[in-house]
Amino acid sequence: MTTPPRLEIRNLTRHFDGRAVVDDVSLSIQPGQVTCLLGPSGCGKSTTLRMIAGVEMQDSGQIWVDGTLVCDTVFRVPAERRRIGLMFQDFALFPHLTVADNVAFGLTGSAAENRARVETMLDRVNLRRFIDAWPHELSGGEQQRVALARALAPDPRIMLMDEPFSGLDNRLRDEIRDTTLAILKETGTAVLLVTHEPEEAMRMADDIALMRQGRIVQQGAPYNIYNAPRDKEAVAFFSDIN
Ligand code: ADP
Ligand code: MG
Repeated sequence: MTTPPRLEIRNLTRHFDGRAVVDDVSLSIQPGQVTCLLGPSGCGKSTTLRMIAGVEMQDSGQIWVDGTLVCDTVFRVPAERRRIGLMFQDFALFPHLTVADNVAFGLTGSAAENRARVETMLDRVNLRRFIDAWPHELSGGEQQRVALARALAPDPRIMLMDEPFSGLDNRLRDEIRDTTLAILKETGTAVLLVTHEPEEAMRMADDIALMRQGRIVQQGAPYNIYNAPRDKEAVAFFSDIN
């Protein structure tokens, strides 16, 4: 018996003002796999992610998680029951909550269960010593790791990341990309990472879906796409990587 993909989207389409901003997008992601939706600003990446997260409704198409339909045009599992974690660039920590309370935010267990889970998650990102600290006492990189711990605390099956490293300075970014990737790989979460930076996709993805004007125009392993871009536009898009 073959196991179904962790996440599968089929023929997802969304119009705004009569224009298809997401146009017949299909892809699937296995557990532990990082797929990168890569394309220029405005091509429909965030809208795709928002439909998967359940905060935006598609006009047509389906979303499946572990072989179960979670959303089509008539049926819809609410966002909070999809076991999908989210990380965005501006998805900052709550400044008025301690690190522990930030990480516990999405948990539904007893106080003792939640505390144990928070400790486990902070160990995983190597920040247990900051459990009672306030966000402003942490560096940018540490805050990002707490945000990762918070996103992973409810044990999501899928992690959606929308340009999560864009706000970080260059020196920090490589390090945080690497730690984030290592932690996600350890948990076996399926990851859909959105970025407009080819270099980030090359560094993090197992699989790249190149998006343009709402459509996936090429898909494959990073080096296959990098070595054989399908057309002049794709060549130009990759040309700023050295
Ligand atoms: P990306 O994340 O790739 O930069 P988006 O998914 O944010 O692209 O946006 C794709 C297109 O859809 C853009 O042209 C954007 O202006 C448009 N768009 C997104 N959300 C809305 C909305 N709520 N109403 C109208 N147009 C929208
Ligand atoms: Mg976007």
